[in-house]
Amino acid sequence: MRKIGVLTSGGDAPGMNAALRAVVRKAIYHGLAVVGFRRGYHGLVYGEYLEMQLGSVADIIHRGGTILLTARTPEFMERRGREQALQTIEKSGVDGLIVIGGDGSLRGADALEKLGVRTVVIPGTIDNDLACSDYSIGFDTAVYNVTDAINKVRDTATSHERVYVIEVMGRTSGHIALAAGLAGGAESILVPEVPFDLAEVCERLQRGVKRGKLHSIILVAEGAGGALNVGEEIKKRTKMETRVTILGHLQRGGTPTAFDRILASRLGAAAVDLLCSGSHGKMAAFRASELHAVSYDKVLAEKKEFSQELYRLATILAI
Ligand code: ADP
Repeated sequence: MRKIGVLTSGGDAPGMNAALRAVVRKAIYHGLAVVGFRRGYHGLVYGEYLEMQLGSVADIIHRGGTILLTARTPEFMERRGREQALQTIEKSGVDGLIVIGGDGSLRGADALEKLGVRTVVIPGTIDNDLACSDYSIGFDTAVYNVTDAINKVRDTATSHERVYVIEVMGRTSGHIALAAGLAGGAESILVPEVPFDLAEVCERLQRGVKRGKLHSIILVAEGAGGALNVGEEIKKRTKMETRVTILGHLQRGGTPTAFDRILASRLGAAAVDLLCSGSHGKMAAFRASELHAVSYDKVLAEKKEFSQELYRLATILAI
């Protein structure tokens, strides 16, 4: 492995830049050259790429979006497009490719693997709908953004004693709605994964009003039927004053949270290590520990571990 390529693909996610920084710097640290393909698979199909230096990723760790730009490239789904991509890969001289994106982007990487290109995927999507990794880059920031929006809407909801129906992103999954609903204290969380009955949602609203609740917040994942429909139905059935807020792309932008930056730095570095060790056709994944019960003795007997590995990584990425 002498030269690697990197691209960001599909929907942008805050933290993609931090992942790019990690990929470029970890690769250069190991003496590799790095090429960045612009606009995701578009850059492969149409031969748009540039050499990346240490300075190419300076001052981007805190920026949302992606400096390499991203796109949806239907041409890449066709054989002809993928053949053009292979030509670009050959011309650019890269020996392996790191793809930062969601499930569609992973399918694209899989298609390249089948054509003999060595690839590694870094999960980057606010939707967090890729299996086998607890988190994908951008999810934590999106949940933070939605929770912040709920806090703000809650002030008005309480003051005006209204029902607020808030629609969040997630495509066909309800992970953002679930996490932000939990963090924001929503009265009901409607997601595509769990069948719901609007009559029950309304009953719960009315019970809340009876016990003196001043507001109600209902979080609806975009894949669960749409907030406009839900809001209309609730208004009709309960006669309560109901407002709908669709958060849209507000939840996808902005500076990534510290969690997303650390996750992106770790996954970026891990992806380079995977490619270099010949372990391709893989997604770099993150699996955190689950809840446990631990005896006091054990807690008191052990010293909280300081991650030397993370400390070393911070030093490498700061070159
Ligand atoms: P995300 O990666 O965020 O899920 P998309 O689903 O839009 O975003 O996928 C991003 C791009 O990946 C698509 O525009 C296309 O170029 C490529 N892609 C998606 N699915 C496939 C597939 N089955 N085969 C090859 N390429 C694909």
